[in-house]
Amino acid sequence: MKVFFLKKIRPLSLIERQGLIYMQIIRTLHNPLRSLTLSYSNADMDGKEVMKSTLMTRFEDLYELIEPSINMMIHHEQLYLRGSRLPDHPINEAIDDYIASKNNAKIIDEVYRDRLGKGMSVSRMETYNKCPFQYYLKYGLRIYPRIDDSLKPTELGSLAHYIMEKCLDDPEHVHEHAFDYIHDHLEKKYQANMINKFFIDHLVEDMKVNVRVVRNQLDHDSFTVTGYEQPIQGLFGDIPVGGIIDRVDCFEHYMRIIDYKSGDKDLNLDFAAQGFNIQMLVYLDLLKKETKLDPGAILYYSMKRRILTHAIDKKYTLHSAFDLDKYHAQFTMKGYVIDDEKYTVTNACDIASIPINLKKDGTPDKHSHIISQEKLDFIMELITNYITELYEKLRAGNIPILPTKSDNNNPSIYPCTFCDYKSVCLFDVFYNENRLIKSKYLSTLKEEEANEQL
Ligand code: SF4
Repeated sequence: MKVFFLKKIRPLSLIERQGLIYMQIIRTLHNPLRSLTLSYSNADMDGKEVMKSTLMTRFEDLYELIEPSINMMIHHEQLYLRGSRLPDHPINEAIDDYIASKNNAKIIDEVYRDRLGKGMSVSRMETYNKCPFQYYLKYGLRIYPRIDDSLKPTELGSLAHYIMEKCLDDPEHVHEHAFDYIHDHLEKKYQANMINKFFIDHLVEDMKVNVRVVRNQLDHDSFTVTGYEQPIQGLFGDIPVGGIIDRVDCFEHYMRIIDYKSGDKDLNLDFAAQGFNIQMLVYLDLLKKETKLDPGAILYYSMKRRILTHAIDKKYTLHSAFDLDKYHAQFTMKGYVIDDEKYTVTNACDIASIPINLKKDGTPDKHSHIISQEKLDFIMELITNYITELYEKLRAGNIPILPTKSDNNNPSIYPCTFCDYKSVCLFDVFYNENRLIKSKYLSTLKEEEANEQL
């Protein structure tokens, strides 16, 4: 009779692993070697100090240890981006010199200024406006954080934009268009792990809803779509800029531009006058010059899933069929409508989809986001002057460590929150300063003007 023993397989405990390593070392030391090279790390890739093994101390007692100078293959950029540094590396001096200058303007040497970029995209200018130092590391030195197989929000954003572009005229084939794109651009990441798959699959389902909602909005609207992903370029002031507008709609001699967003973005005119979220305003200005049409609206459509209302409405769960009419009003776009007292643009729009509430007499209430052409022109002039000055500073190589912060702690104005370069600039809240952005900038300007006239 044969007897079989079943051996239980389980991971080794820490003590068992240590024992195994010691055994390997003893075995190695019993071999007739002329020399033995041992290496150990004194910091991990996140820059945290790692304790030296007690084994090294024992070796120091037993043997004459020689410390060789060997250049090891180390990914310097990653090491520095994660807060660590190599002792005696020449780059340390450059970083320390830069940090020593703190908030004083640090001017980049002329020979390196070409690295600052020439034709500006509006989003790059916005990065420089938020933090010149972050701009320089990203677009000047091209230092990027490590890329792994996790999905980036920009990748999901590109997929969502693609679906909007392809499917508004072909709503029956959202799934097919989406997976064509995934196959060409995201296949590896889609297959890489279940979390990526989960997010992509859910995004495709959300986009089916978004396509239906936008088509429904257009059915109730007098504007018609004249362009998807429309490229635009020209001069803003004297600065060459360009970009892509997600959607352009026209009605009579009016045009409106729509930006698809994965979050809840809105247009804050006070911040825009100080160079924040100006992209759509710049595009509107370029399009106006190109087409000679009158600006009608700048709108942001949020593609974000409306989970909350589903969840709190007891009749509906996340898996219920989507009731288009019931939820239509939840997809009101943000932004501004540009109109006069005749309200021609307002009346031409599906009122549920624009940020305007009409009173009983048919005029917009005080919470409505509506501005006159005159006010828009005034803001555009402020932005043009601001951006021109900013561009001149950038071209002159002016790169201080001076991030912005709003006086009302608006998180979208504070670039340090999610910045990948914190470990390089070593921004210290007790030591460094922020450039303050005013949340009531336009009204302050008005007051100042009124005081001057007195
Ligand atoms: S952490 Fe703040 S100061 Fe440092 S580079 Fe980033 S945005 Fe600029």
